[in-house]
Amino acid sequence: MAAAQRIVIENCSIATVDADDTEYACGYLVLAGNRIEALGAGSAPEGLENVVRRIDATGHLATPGLINTHHHFYQWITRGLATDHNLFDWLVALYPIWARIDEPMAYTAARGSLAMMARGGVTTAMDHHYVYPRGTGDLSGAIIRAAHETGVRFTLARGSMDRGESDGGLPPDFAVESLDGALAATEATVKEHHDPSFDAMTQVAVAPCSPFSVSTELLRNAAELARRLGVRLHTHGSETVEEEKFCHELFGMGPTDYFESTGWLGEDVWMAHCVHMNDSDIAAFARTRTGVAHCPSSNARLAAGIARVPDMLAAGVPVGLGVDGTASNESGELHTELRNALLINRLGAHKESALNARQALRLGTHGGARVLGRAAETGSLEAGKLADVVLWKLDTLAHASIADPVTALVFGAAAPVTASFVNGRQIVADGRLLTVDEDAVARATRDEARRLAQLAAQR
Ligand SMILES: [Zn+2]
Repeated sequence: MAAAQRIVIENCSIATVDADDTEYACGYLVLAGNRIEALGAGSAPEGLENVVRRIDATGHLATPGLINTHHHFYQWITRGLATDHNLFDWLVALYPIWARIDEPMAYTAARGSLAMMARGGVTTAMDHHYVYPRGTGDLSGAIIRAAHETGVRFTLARGSMDRGESDGGLPPDFAVESLDGALAATEATVKEHHDPSFDAMTQVAVAPCSPFSVSTELLRNAAELARRLGVRLHTHGSETVEEEKFCHELFGMGPTDYFESTGWLGEDVWMAHCVHMNDSDIAAFARTRTGVAHCPSSNARLAAGIARVPDMLAAGVPVGLGVDGTASNESGELHTELRNALLINRLGAHKESALNARQALRLGTHGGARVLGRAAETGSLEAGKLADVVLWKLDTLAHASIADPVTALVFGAAAPVTASFVNGRQIVADGRLLTVDEDAVARATRDEARRLAQLAAQR
């Protein structure tokens, strides 16, 4: 076997986000094949063989690639609608439109969502897709193909809904699957696409949508299915006061107790939002190591509230960051969520001590890897881990006078990405994607958004 080709990156600040938060004011990284081989202070060791590239990263900060832990790619073509609604009203306004999504739309919207994140330093993405109207083709396959083409590491959370309007749920009946149909399709998706290996580019999780769109049987059976197949579980939880009320009325308990009663707390589970959690809910998540995808912008956009992230972290709950779907966060960027997570949490109970810049960066990197079950592989810069690395340009007008590079990245404007590597392969150069044509993606998403609006208007 040929020796791995090496890429040497030098003269940059490095925030490793390892267990000790090790940082180097001026250091180097050696990437060998798809792994990080070495890193440290000063210059790279001399005499390295097979060096195919040397990057002088003066003026840059190197961090682990960002990891997005909650998203709905299809919403890229329904941005800017129902802009002044709370969650339930927003869902009722949008479900009839989403129910018209077909395979070309799902593919094109996924390309838009992925391109936006990747050019902003995301190296691992996930998509929680739960709208599978009958007869719409292979939506999961189309989304996975889009991720493969963009070049990011990817988890498809294969979602589902089986509680339509006639069963007291929120989605219209034509947008839901049957219980057995949803389970069978989810199992088939795991068997076809899930790769359990260390450097997997595609994984699949089992992901019924939410307590108010899914039957108790589907939640329970989905948990059993995921554990039988050895994959992770994902859903929405404790997002709004309305959801809490819904759970009390229908099940006689709050969302966290309901999840526990259906087998949905555990270290193989992560949930989006978790805004309305009391002390015992947080303790239950900590005890079971259930993860959280914190989505500050979406929670603000839908006026859902402020998740108690400092309390979760203090209790030992694994927490990552999420964009959430772009119908409730039109920017679709994750690097700005570092800043939003910090600022929004300071408006909560802990005020200025809520989160600091290093904690925000950890949420967006190592925390994300933990909730996706991939902390051994990515999420920090350490020898032996996968070569998922971002170089942020911090020597221009926007950042050059900010005292410290991690503070510049988190508190400052959205920093430009000079280079982003996934699995050792460069996918971004000077803020532009190398893998897909951004302008073509923009045109295609605009066309598909128009086609969807016309289809929805015909009903
Ligand atoms: Zn969501």
